Amino acid sequence: MDARAGIPGVDRLLEAAEAAGLTARHPAGRVKAAIRAAVDRTRAAIAAGTWAGDPEDPAGYLEAAERWLAEDERPSLAPVINATGVVLHTNLGRAPLAAVAREAMGRIAAGYSNLEFDVAEGVRGSRYAHCAALVCELTGAEDALVVNNCAGALVLALSALAGGSDVVVSRGELVEIGGGFRIPEIVRQAGAGLREVGATNRTRLEDYRAAVRAGGVAGLLKVHRSNFRIEGFTEESGLAELAELAGECGIPLVHDLGSGLLADAASLGLPPEPTPAESLRDGADLVVFSGDKLLGGPQAGIVAGRRELVARLRSSPLCRALRVDKATLAGLEATLRLYRDPERALTEIPALSMLATPLGEVKIRAERLVAGVAEAAAAVGWVIRATEGTGRVGGGTYPGHHLPSWTVRVGGGKGSADALCRSLRLGDPPLVARVEDDELVLDLRTVRPAEEADVARRLSAVLAGDGGPR
Ligand SMILES: *Cc1c(COP(=O)(O)O)cnc(C)c1O
Repeated sequence: MDARAGIPGVDRLLEAAEAAGLTARHPAGRVKAAIRAAVDRTRAAIAAGTWAGDPEDPAGYLEAAERWLAEDERPSLAPVINATGVVLHTNLGRAPLAAVAREAMGRIAAGYSNLEFDVAEGVRGSRYAHCAALVCELTGAEDALVVNNCAGALVLALSALAGGSDVVVSRGELVEIGGGFRIPEIVRQAGAGLREVGATNRTRLEDYRAAVRAGGVAGLLKVHRSNFRIEGFTEESGLAELAELAGECGIPLVHDLGSGLLADAASLGLPPEPTPAESLRDGADLVVFSGDKLLGGPQAGIVAGRRELVARLRSSPLCRALRVDKATLAGLEATLRLYRDPERALTEIPALSMLATPLGEVKIRAERLVAGVAEAAAAVGWVIRATEGTGRVGGGTYPGHHLPSWTVRVGGGKGSADALCRSLRLGDPPLVARVEDDELVLDLRTVRPAEEADVARRLSAVLAGDGGPR
C-alpha cells in the first residue's frame, strides 16, 4: 500500500494541534498553513523515497508544524553582525545610526508630530522645513531639501531644471553607482537629454563650452565618480571653472556628490574627499548627496544650494513622489545636529567612529577574539590567528582605498572556510564575514564592542561544528 494513504486528514491534525495548545499560541490560520506544509513535505518525502517515520503518527506533523511556525514568525528584516570590514556596506543597510538618531526616530514614529504643522500659528507647515536650516548651517547653502534618497534627489533636480532640454555630462563621469543607478539612464529618466562631451579619460572646459554654444542646453552636471578612479593620461574640468562657464551662460551647475562627507577626512584618517560645503564654495548651484553614506545618517537624499533652484525643486510634482518619511527626518536632524560639535560627530556617529578607531584598538579586539575562541578552535584542529588586514569604506566611496584593519583568520582545519562562513551567516544573529585564500576572515573594525561576545560565541560554536539553531 502507498504510505501516503496513511497520512492523517488536515482536520484530524488540526484537532491534535488544538489539543497540543498550538492554536492557543499561534493564529489559527497560521497553524493550518503549518500543518498543510508538514503534510505536503511528508507526501513529497514518501514519493521521493526519503521518508523514514510513521506517516500515521500525528506527533511528527505537530513537531514539524512547530518548527515551521517558529521560522514563519522570524522577521524577514533582522540585524546582522558585519565582520566584512566594509563600513558602509550597502547590502547590510549602509550607515548604522547614532543613539540620538535612533531615539529621535522612535519618538517621532511613535506618535503625532508637527511634521507639517506650524505649532506657533496653528496652520499647515512644511515637512521640508525641519532639516533645511541645519543643512544650510553645515554646508553654507542658501536653502536645502531632503527627499527619499540621493538617486531621487538627482532625478528631481534634473527633471525640474532641465525641462526636457539637454544636460551636459563628461564621458568620464557616465558612471554606474550600483543597484541599477547609471547616470545616462538617470538623466533620461528625468526627462532630460544627455549631451555627452569629452572622452572617457579627458574632458576639457572647451568641450563643455562647445556643447553649450551648440544650443539646447539647460544645465551642466558634474558627477563624483564615487566607486572608481581614472588614472594615467587624464584631464578633467574642476568645479570652479565649470561654475564660471555655467554663470557666463546663465545655466545651473548641478554637482552629484554622492558621499556627503560632512566631517574632516583627515580626522578619519582618510584622503581628502570633496564635501558639500566645498562644492558650493566652488560654485555649484546645487549639490546632491546621500544621508546614509559618509554622513552616517538614515537613507535620504539631500539637495542644497541656491534658493530659487531649491524652491523650484520643492514645488515639482516629483518632489511629492519622492517625499521623505517623518522618522527619517527625525533621524537625519539628530545626526546633523551632532556635526555642530565635530568631536561628538566622530564619537557618536557609528560610521565615523568605526573609521576613526585607532588601528591599535582594532588589534586589541582581534586578539581578544582569538583568545576567546582559541581553545574551541584548537580542539577541532582549526588554526586561528589575529593578523593585519584591510577593509573598505564602502557605499561607493573611496575606491581602491585600503582601510587598515585587524582581522581574525581561521584556516587549516578539516572543513572548508566557505562552509564556516556559511554557518556563521545561518546562525542567530547572522554573522557576515569573508573568505580569502581558503581562510575565514573576520574584520574587527566593523564589529562593535557590544557585539564582540556574540561573535566569540557564534565563532566557537561554528568551529566546534555546531552552527547553533537553524
Ligand atoms: C551613491 C551615489 C548616488 C546614489 O545615492 P543613494 O542615496 O544610494 O540613492 C548618486 N550619486 C553618486 C555620485 C553616488 O555616489
